[in-house]
Amino acid sequence: MRTVTGRIHSFETGGMVDGPGIRFVVFTQGCPLRCLYCHNPDTWKKTDGQEMTVGEVLDKAKSYKSYMDSSGGGITVTGGEPLMQPEFVGALLQEARKLGIHTAVDTSGFATAEARKAVLPYADLVLLDIKSIKPTIFKKVSGVEIDSTLAALEELRELNTPVWVRHVVVPGLTDNLEDAKELARVLSEYPNIEKVEILPFHKLGEFKWEELDQPYTLGDTEPPSREVIERIRDIFREKNIPVA
Ligand code: SF4
Repeated sequence: MRTVTGRIHSFETGGMVDGPGIRFVVFTQGCPLRCLYCHNPDTWKKTDGQEMTVGEVLDKAKSYKSYMDSSGGGITVTGGEPLMQPEFVGALLQEARKLGIHTAVDTSGFATAEARKAVLPYADLVLLDIKSIKPTIFKKVSGVEIDSTLAALEELRELNTPVWVRHVVVPGLTDNLEDAKELARVLSEYPNIEKVEILPFHKLGEFKWEELDQPYTLGDTEPPSREVIERIRDIFREKNIPVA
């Protein structure tokens, strides 16, 4: 499995926000979604990035193993959308596990059932981005349907895999309190969800859209107020879901 190749956008060593402890973060190349607020549009194109084998990626990761071990960290595969390269990511997670490295995947869940099956069972933690629980808003934000994300949620419950849900609050799109209540209600039925991260929309990636000559439609949208973020966090706390 160490010879399986994938396309990599970049690496981040010492990541602190994509799972527990200190993480070696692998950004895979390619994403079929077009989230309006994406801060990594340079990961979209499947053919960009560099080709690497699972073995080459792990050889890099291994030099940080002492940091991972002492901090309770591990490897996080993000993107892009990692499920676009199921054979590579599945092999990477399995080989990492053999080395005793904790594995996490940051995904939108958007993929075929086969692709999800090739990857999700080998993740010790899944960071699942749920753009909105409302199908119309989900589509408006991401350009794709919600169905695979909901299927991923179901499969992760069956696998009993710990999940951290990520939800970006964008004024005028995903700051509706009724939608937040519905998301909290749905998530309260999944005992494997360890927490929900409510992330305020920001425009730090806007310049990348300009560089890629892509129209950025949220240029006039301001970040949500602290009050709205806290109100939404409270909605999840009321359902006994830990919030970050
Ligand atoms: S899923 Fe992630 S990488 Fe893909 S478009 Fe959305 S925010 Fe960007």
